[in-house]
Amino acid sequence: LIELRGVNKHFGALHVLQDINLTVGRGEVVVVIGPSGSGKSTLCRTINRLETIESGQIALDGKPLPEEGKGLAQLRAEVGMVFQSFNLFAHKTVLANVSLAQIKVRKRKKDEADKRSRELLERVGLAAHADKYPAQLSGGQQQRVAIARALAMDPKALLFDEPTSALDPEMINEVLEVMQQLARDGMTMVVVTHEMGFARSAANRVVFMADGAVVEDRHPEEFFTAPASDRAKDFLSKIL
Ligand code: ATP
Ligand code: MG
Repeated sequence: LIELRGVNKHFGALHVLQDINLTVGRGEVVVVIGPSGSGKSTLCRTINRLETIESGQIALDGKPLPEEGKGLAQLRAEVGMVFQSFNLFAHKTVLANVSLAQIKVRKRKKDEADKRSRELLERVGLAAHADKYPAQLSGGQQQRVAIARALAMDPKALLFDEPTSALDPEMINEVLEVMQQLARDGMTMVVVTHEMGFARSAANRVVFMADGAVVEDRHPEEFFTAPASDRAKDFLSKIL
């Protein structure tokens, strides 16, 4: 579904993505891990063109990613992104937050969008909170609203960049459970996370990045029990 071939990017002198080759199949969950600064966020951002690339190809469904204009807005709907900070509109209700892009981008009528929003809020366990404002919710609840908002675009894939890193420990699991359920339902997902339990239980593959390169791309059990590279061994010894 998502295919990167020979992707390169620099920030000035920094070669932040080095000849990245990565394929994410339909329904696959790929967890990306690696040290700070290794290029994980940049990788995610290139997949929905929040960052440009200098060479290589990125394809979605066999077609090159659109460069600009209408196609780009369509792409951002089809490949949704959930960030560490939830970026909800503070002055809109939870329901309005989930409905907004459906109306603007998907051109749905308000009634239809609100109906879909309520279904999705139910799915992430927030049906009772539709009429509240973001500030009235916990961090974990806000992040689940952000997930519902991404799902409302009927995306082909979802990218998660450290979705639980800003949350208090007791709220991490409620977000991970929603993500586990999405994985079971067959959503294609690329997930940057430090939650190794999630990687072990939900990922089809673990991609380990270091210094802008994909160093390992393996089945989670193999990766965690027998990492092949010294970089990965060193990284795992620090976090496990
Ligand atoms: P973290 O685990 O800390 O989130 P990361 O693996 O997500 O790290 P990136 O955010 O992709 O890493 O950054 C990779 C490198 O690129 C870092 O050295 C970072 O400082 C640099 N970088 C990221 N964005 C920019 C930018 N807009 N301009 C210049 N340098 C950048
Ligand atoms: Mg990052």
